[in-house]
Order: sequence, then C-alpha cells, then structure tokens
Amino acid sequence: MKKKNDRSPRPRQRLLKIYRRLEKAYGPQGWWPAKGDFEMIVGAILTQNTSWANVTRALDNLQRAGLLTPKKMAGLAAVELGGHIRPAGYFRQKSRTLKEFLRFLREGYRGNLEDMLASGQEKLRAGLLGVRGIGPETADSIVLYAGHYPVFVVDAYTGRIFRCQGLIAEGAKYAEIQGMVMAGLEPDERLFNEFHALLVHLGKTHCRKNPRCEGCPLIRDRVSSIS
Ligand code: SF4
Repeated sequence: MKKKNDRSPRPRQRLLKIYRRLEKAYGPQGWWPAKGDFEMIVGAILTQNTSWANVTRALDNLQRAGLLTPKKMAGLAAVELGGHIRPAGYFRQKSRTLKEFLRFLREGYRGNLEDMLASGQEKLRAGLLGVRGIGPETADSIVLYAGHYPVFVVDAYTGRIFRCQGLIAEGAKYAEIQGMVMAGLEPDERLFNEFHALLVHLGKTHCRKNPRCEGCPLIRDRVSSIS
C-alpha cells in the first residue's frame, strides 16, 4: 500500500504518465496566449496574483492605447502606465516592475527584445531574476514562452498536483520541484510548454485551493491528502 506523500523512485515514468493523461483529457493547449513576445512578457508580469481574465482587460487597455511595444511603454510615466493596467490589480507594483523590466531591456540590450531573447537560457534567466518584481515563476515563463528555451515553470497548481501524486513532499520549494522535473525529463521546450499549460488547465478546472477531485483525470493515482 502507498504511504501518504510517498516519493516515487521513478519520477520520469510518473511525470510522463501524468503528462499523457492530461494530454488525452484536455488536448493541445497552444500556449502562451499572446500575439507577440512583448505582449507575452507583459502578460507574465501582469498575471502575478490575479486571474487571466483581469490580465486580458489590462492588455486590452494597453492595446487600445497603442502601448504594447517596448518603445511606447518606455515613454510612459509609471503612474500613467498604472492607470492602464489597473484591472490586473497591484497596479502600482506591476507598473514599477514593467518599468524596471524596460530599464533592463534598454541598458542590457539597447531596447532590442530579439537580442535579449537570443542571449541564452542561463543569461536570460539570471538577468530577468535581477529585475525587481520578477521572481522565478515569471522569469521562467518568459524564458520558456518567449525565449523558447527548455525550462520547466512551477506554480501553485504544480505543487498541489505533484504533491497529490506523491512526486514531492509537503513544503517542497520552487527550485526543488523544478529540479525534480528537469532531472526526470529531457530538456524539451515543446514538452515543458505543453506540460505547464496542461497543469494550469487541471488546476483551474479541478485542483484549486479546495480541490474538486471528482472527474479529475489524475484521481486514480492520488497518493496524498491535499490541504
Ligand atoms: S483535483 Fe484532486 S485528484 Fe486531481 S490532482 Fe488535485 S488533489 Fe489530486
């Protein structure tokens, strides 16, 4: 009999089984939902601590105002930018983060987004993590979905789902979860892209803070209680 929070000796097989089951249940996710790299990056910053519906409203405001280019946005004062992104919540903080990101882009790459994205996985990730307001989840989202480098993005859903499936222990931190996945699977950008998107889909539909396990594609392999 499996014990609560039992760690699998074969994370690779377990991870692939989860991936295939979700893929079968939900199909291709086609992430990231953005029209270009800059919009992707802005969305990744705006989505911190809010729903995607709120992000979309903020992005629509920016789009209507013609501000979804690094040059246009850089020319705007933080307070004005905050007005446009208000629907995404924490707008003062997010406006500061966007301005800090634009400063990083200007100072490191003369404002050239393509150069920044082509700078290499490690350099790009380290640079983004040096921007005030950008943490590992946002940095890795940008590295994966705009840079197309093979990095696995971890979020709250990922932790809850992997804990339920006995892949990680209670209280496992970002780097541990990411390390477990990246040690278990090949560095495959397409796989990491789809896997994260599928886990988010499962999180939104079933594995919320109070999980609705009935109908969850992974319920058969549940090995731990979720708080
Ligand atoms: S919804 Fe329930 S069964 Fe599914 S992954 Fe979450 S906790 Fe596990």
